[in-house]
Amino acid sequence: MSLLTQVATASSTPQQRIDQLFEIFFLGEEGDLELLNKYLAELDQLIPADDIKQREKLIPLQCWYHPSETTEEFQKAIKHAEVLMEAHQKSYPSELHADLLLCRGSHYQYSGKPEQAKLDYDAAIKEAYLIENMRLIADGRSMRGTMLSYEGDYTGALEDLIPAQSMYEQLNLAYWARVNLSEIANSYRRFGDPQMALTYQLKLEKAYLDNNQLVEAFDTNTQIAYSYEALGDNQLALERHQKSYQYWHQQKNSLSAAASAVDMAGILIKLNQVDEAVEILEQAENTVTIEFDGLFSFMKLFSAQAALIKQHPEKALEYAEEAESGFNVSNNDRGLSQLYTLRNQIYLSIKDYQSAHQALTDYLNVHHKLDQLSLTSRNSEMRARFNTDKIEAENQNLLSIQLIKEKELAALEQNKRLQNIIIILVAIILIIVTIYAVKQVKRKQKFKDLALTDELTKLANRRHTYALAKTYINQAKTEHSQFSVISFDADHFKKVNDTLGHDIGDKVLIKLAKIAKELMRKSDTVGRVGGEEFLILLPGANEQQAYDIASRLIVRIADADWDTIAPELKQTVSAGVTHYQNGDNFENMLLRVDNALYQAKSAGRNCVKTV
Ligand code: GH3
Ligand code: MG
Ligand code: MG
Repeated sequence: MSLLTQVATASSTPQQRIDQLFEIFFLGEEGDLELLNKYLAELDQLIPADDIKQREKLIPLQCWYHPSETTEEFQKAIKHAEVLMEAHQKSYPSELHADLLLCRGSHYQYSGKPEQAKLDYDAAIKEAYLIENMRLIADGRSMRGTMLSYEGDYTGALEDLIPAQSMYEQLNLAYWARVNLSEIANSYRRFGDPQMALTYQLKLEKAYLDNNQLVEAFDTNTQIAYSYEALGDNQLALERHQKSYQYWHQQKNSLSAAASAVDMAGILIKLNQVDEAVEILEQAENTVTIEFDGLFSFMKLFSAQAALIKQHPEKALEYAEEAESGFNVSNNDRGLSQLYTLRNQIYLSIKDYQSAHQALTDYLNVHHKLDQLSLTSRNSEMRARFNTDKIEAENQNLLSIQLIKEKELAALEQNKRLQNIIIILVAIILIIVTIYAVKQVKRKQKFKDLALTDELTKLANRRHTYALAKTYINQAKTEHSQFSVISFDADHFKKVNDTLGHDIGDKVLIKLAKIAKELMRKSDTVGRVGGEEFLILLPGANEQQAYDIASRLIVRIADADWDTIAPELKQTVSAGVTHYQNGDNFENMLLRVDNALYQAKSAGRNCVKTV
């Protein structure tokens, strides 16, 4: 039974009833607006006129739930907030005043006045910090973050949304935590970081499922599919869309089901399953009419793609025509960009080079716009994340590519003779591809340099671990300090792979890494130096301490719940320990610690030895 229905049926004293009603608003449990307004009226009646404290709790709620749909209602709501604030001005800073500021800000935002909204949010957050009210800080930052995200300032948005998330979680406000989490996921998606978006979408999906909010869970499921698609994992994306499709179908929500069907068709085409795609698209045609412009256009775009593959260019052109109008209505540049690429291919297939050139020009124009958009947002994000001049240089590089594109296009425009057009077209494509390839190579190089972590376990990799070890040895030498190392290796790991498969083996390695990492201090390093071999660097630790740590590690691993990975699975490790001695170099230490590990293996495994 939900909180709402409990309240509706509970028999209680007036004060209990008041507390219950306030609790509903505080937790944000969902209910329809009409019901909530009824509760507000009830509170108004129940709270005595001279009970100032509870009256003051009621005031901001009356502001938040003020009718606000039409322009007139918005104006009234803002006015109402102002009157209330005027009346409580002298109590600044106070919870009531800050809450009213937030409320007015929200009415400003949704009536299309973001500048005023921002002033109110800033002031409310400042006041909330003054009175150290975590709930209001979280509300303020969540709302400001949401607005910034809409405006395309993703760095600013995440700077607000992420702290708001941890505050909501600390306060156990699960409903608001979910609302905020979905904004985080949206920000990463809009920013074009599908990997991070996916991380948060998966977390959100779980939260919705745990709370039995199936509609929200399946909306999120669709977003997850988009992220997988953006990451190039079409198979997973397809499975996700299929799941959504089945759910909406069961719910008899034919429009949402059709939307999932269209998404599925797009991926099936990518996977070369054109016949299945066509069948699905034909079904969707019954539901998706032209007034659903975005969805309608993608349906037509995919039909056009399928027709081209089936070598019906005339049919493909007809579909493309239908797709274009919808994309234009909704200003969908990403859709248009895909459409023009396709049209270029269609015309090339029927050797109409003039039209092919026009489609390519259209494509480059839209693409240019998209590049500009992603450039501006990426700029600020990159600066926040890495703050390097190299990134600046890269952006300059991107800008100059834009310039080259523009110049080449201008040249094309002047030369109308078919022969030349084709030659220059090919040249442009070559230039773009070459620049793109050079950029990719450079980028790859940069990532290579950055690659200090092991892909599977996210631990320091061998190269990085060894380099750190050498630094610590030098430090021990010059500062006469302690330094110890532990080497540990999974026991009979080959058997795990052979009997349970490589995937399970990988999961075991990830779990080993996690356990080791959790046991160590911040200053220690756990590195993966071989397939199932790990090295732990303990600067400042003497031999006895290192031995104790290794012993704890062994026990922790042996006692871990391995059967969550595979039934009956048990995994132990053996470890060797050694410490820095005068005159040591890295090779000596490595040799000694390997010897110690070897002795631990010989002594029957699942134990620690030291030399
Ligand atoms: P011992 O107790 O003596 O260490 O026996 P062992 O079977 O663990 O030792 P051995 O060195 O013979 O086998 C190590 C196995 O680790 C062989 C290899 O298939 C596996 N392995 C190495 N790297 C990986 C990896 O990245 N993933 C998985 N799943 N297995 C790996
Ligand atoms: Mg082993
Ligand atoms: Mg080994």
